[in-house]
Amino acid sequence: MADKFTKQERSTIMSNVRNRNTAPEILVRRVLHKKGYRFRLHRKDLPGKPDIALPKHKKAIFVHGCFWHGHEGCSRGVRPTSNVEFWNAKIDKSILRDNKAVTCLKSLGWDALVVWQCQTSNLSELESILESFLHTGKVSPE
Ligand SMILES: [Zn+2]
Repeated sequence: MADKFTKQERSTIMSNVRNRNTAPEILVRRVLHKKGYRFRLHRKDLPGKPDIALPKHKKAIFVHGCFWHGHEGCSRGVRPTSNVEFWNAKIDKSILRDNKAVTCLKSLGWDALVVWQCQTSNLSELESILESFLHTGKVSPE
């Protein structure tokens, strides 16, 4: 059956599907689990539905894809040079939504951490990021 969308449109639509349970997210969960932390996933009652929530610690973790969430200064976060307006609007909207979620969480007394996809490629670095967040509540500069 013929697709009413072109191949390019279709691939854009498909990649827009918000990815739950992505590889970086699973990696973060695995590290937390190994360290004995208890967490909940995608809690709808918290601002931004954090990918991971640690209710006991009142800490929330977002695992962001560098492209979709516009990781600044990151090679994976470089914005497309065609369809510029479309992508800028889309990515800017994500950034706005992400910032709002963190602000709302803070106002509820929660700490929030953003783990970028590119930070999950180095396991020991990822472990130390998570460890320092969970111990001190310090949020990375991004
Ligand atoms: Zn990145």
